[in-house]
Amino acid sequence: MRAVCWHGTEDVRVETVPDPEIVNPRDAIIKVTSTAICGSDLHLYNGFVPTMQKDDILGHEFMGEIVELGSSVKNLKVGDRVVVPFTISCGNCLFCRRDLYSLCDNSNPNVALAEKFWGHTPCGIFGYSHLVGGYSGGQAEYVRVPYADVGPMKVPEHLHDDQVLFLTDIFPTGYMAAENCNIQPDDTVAVWGCGPVGQFTIASAFMLGAARVIAIDEIPERLEMARRQKAETVDLRDLSSPPQLVEKLKTMTHGRGPDACIDAVGMEGHGLGIEHIYDRAKQIVRFETDRPAALRQALMSCRKGGTVSVPGVYGGIGDKLPLGSLMNKSLTVRTGQTHVQHYLKPLLERVEKGEIDPSFVISHRLPLEEAANAYRMFRDKSDHCTKVVMRP
Ligand code: NAD
Ligand code: ZN
Repeated sequence: MRAVCWHGTEDVRVETVPDPEIVNPRDAIIKVTSTAICGSDLHLYNGFVPTMQKDDILGHEFMGEIVELGSSVKNLKVGDRVVVPFTISCGNCLFCRRDLYSLCDNSNPNVALAEKFWGHTPCGIFGYSHLVGGYSGGQAEYVRVPYADVGPMKVPEHLHDDQVLFLTDIFPTGYMAAENCNIQPDDTVAVWGCGPVGQFTIASAFMLGAARVIAIDEIPERLEMARRQKAETVDLRDLSSPPQLVEKLKTMTHGRGPDACIDAVGMEGHGLGIEHIYDRAKQIVRFETDRPAALRQALMSCRKGGTVSVPGVYGGIGDKLPLGSLMNKSLTVRTGQTHVQHYLKPLLERVEKGEIDPSFVISHRLPLEEAANAYRMFRDKSDHCTKVVMRP
């Protein structure tokens, strides 16, 4: 089959690789019909995640048709059209039973590696390096889906792939980011980053009752997309220095600051360096982020007693976090990889009711063969690229 393989920093290639096979009775093999590139894939593309290996198959946002099922998967049939959560979860451990699927105890076999970086092991993730299990991803013609009796959800025929694909990640991610803010009817929510995750965060903040959303970015078409959702916008290019943003947000909120601040940017936010730290045997033991700008500003801007929610991905250790502000303002910080399985059904219902058409974020639809170009364009935010969907 054809698949998008990681070769090194800024080097992805579409190659012919062996077809996946069922290796466990709870597996399914999916023939992929649509797959997207995520901001999280850019951390791999930019070489910030040190545990990628040459020829690893990328992709964690995908959907398709079930072509083969392991003997113990009873809730699905061959031929079913499903979306697949990016989080691989067993459904039975302490965390899955509490709906904390991204913390599953049984789906990441590389415990020693994860413990070394994080002191704990989160769930396995498709196509996302050996730190989270080394699973082959879904930017491919076929993919093996472990724990298929827990993850994949059948979707109605009348909804197009583009309307349901983002249930696999970015719609639930934006929704959980907003839900984590415990939004009250009069609240103003500020969102750093108007990428695909930021867009679903804005949509979800309104769904959950925010009175105002202030969206922050510097890319005109992304800010425009936010305004079409009725968000007010702050264009970073209009500000001369980062402290000005904190002041600006205060002025926009009667001197108080936003009730909730959401960092939908993550570790690459503006001019950051990521440094890999090696031990004596030249093994990477951790990676450090210099000045996570968006997160720092979110902590500085948020009003007293407010919530800072962080869907943006951080991998390592961040420097220059204003802990004094966090502590003395009694802020609540909530974060995490999304517990996608928990959100699949309720968010599909919202799509079916017509409350949202998630396809609004798509700027490019391309064949899988054009992945190298698609990655470059999405990373550089060139060609008005906000979200790429690829069809194998
Ligand atoms: P993206 O790269 O397309 O969008 C990021 C946006 O942030 C860009 O528009 C960029 O211009 C803007 N930006 C950069 N620095 C900024 C700053 N300092 N202030 C304001 N805006 C800034 O990525 P995306 O697909 O939207 O993903 C965003 C983040 O969400 C990534 O870190 C990604 O890894 C993460 N993510 C997390 C989860 C989860 O489960 N928690 C799931 C999916 C994605
Ligand atoms: Zn993603």
